[in-house]
Amino acid sequence: MVQPCIVTDTVKLRHNLEYLSKKLQKNGIAIAAVTKVFSAHPKLVSIYNEIEEIAFLADSRITNLKSYPNNLTKEKMLLRIPMLSEAEEVVRFADISLNSEIETIRRLDQKASELGKVHQIILMLDLGDLREGIFSSSQLMEYIEEILKMEAVSLVGLGVNLTCYGAIIPEPVTLQKLVDYKQEVKKRFSYDLKLISGGNSSSLYLLDQAEGIPEGINLLRIGEAFVLGVETAFGRRIAEMYQNVFTLKAEIIEYKDKPSLPIGNSGQDAFGEKPVFEDKGEMRRGILAIGRQDISHQNMIPRDSRLQIIGSSSDHTIIDFTNAKEDYQIGGMVEFDVTYGGLLSCFTSQYVDKKFI
Ligand SMILES: *Cc1c(COP(=O)(O)O)cnc(C)c1O
Repeated sequence: MVQPCIVTDTVKLRHNLEYLSKKLQKNGIAIAAVTKVFSAHPKLVSIYNEIEEIAFLADSRITNLKSYPNNLTKEKMLLRIPMLSEAEEVVRFADISLNSEIETIRRLDQKASELGKVHQIILMLDLGDLREGIFSSSQLMEYIEEILKMEAVSLVGLGVNLTCYGAIIPEPVTLQKLVDYKQEVKKRFSYDLKLISGGNSSSLYLLDQAEGIPEGINLLRIGEAFVLGVETAFGRRIAEMYQNVFTLKAEIIEYKDKPSLPIGNSGQDAFGEKPVFEDKGEMRRGILAIGRQDISHQNMIPRDSRLQIIGSSSDHTIIDFTNAKEDYQIGGMVEFDVTYGGLLSCFTSQYVDKKFI
């Protein structure tokens, strides 16, 4: 039996990793490589681990960090602000975590102390995207004063996350604020923050601008750019990288000429929505054995531009094959590019096989 599968071209992936890591290193920027989009699949994590320029392997979930192969040479970073209830696991399975709540940091200190460990943290600042981060500079300074007295938590840096919730584009003036805070901390506490983390794949476009990334920003956390070969502030392709590392394949289980308009009175579909149809006359319709339980069809892009996705339900995706009908048949496979969200769901679905070439 062949399930739908997501195929990773590991040669192309390795190229993407090497190209971008070298470029960042040349710009004096260390890398936390993010593994959440492929659910930290151990085969891919091992490839990431071999790239010399990568300093940290990072994921938003402890479950994924726990599943990392145990022969890794990189430090492990937790990206999502920890749950108070997972503090002990954070200390056990991550070397470093991103934080914004003093209550949680106190708990990390307590757990690390009990385990005889030192846990590193980066304090996250909210510079306008309105997801995670400390919002006021007075609170930041209060937190730092308290953290510097802790025994088992070591403050190693400051960070920001942008373009995730509020879609705010990282600009030099915004990132400069992080560098300014570093200097203020140095003045007030005579303390050197060694990592200043200026965001994710949406900060990459700055490398190609005259102004560049502000001096002093020395860490980026990169997920999407490595896997999809794009920067994410404007969604532009990076010419030197592959955009087709991943291919989703699904099998045709029905292939018939049918009308484009359903027949009878219309109610609501399987997902409680009231669909609207356009009459395109009779068409060659094919059904693929893949559906919303695996991936939302909005996240699939047919490689063959003659094909058009009509819609999907939990386990079926319907395609208009009219313009390519002689080239496909029952049992044949259809190939797709996937978006970031699509990749995330393919690697999460137990019904999608993971293959590597
Ligand atoms: C997911 C995530 C990243 C990686 O973002 P990309 O856009 O995939 O590069 C970086 N930092 C944090 C905090 C994240 O949650």
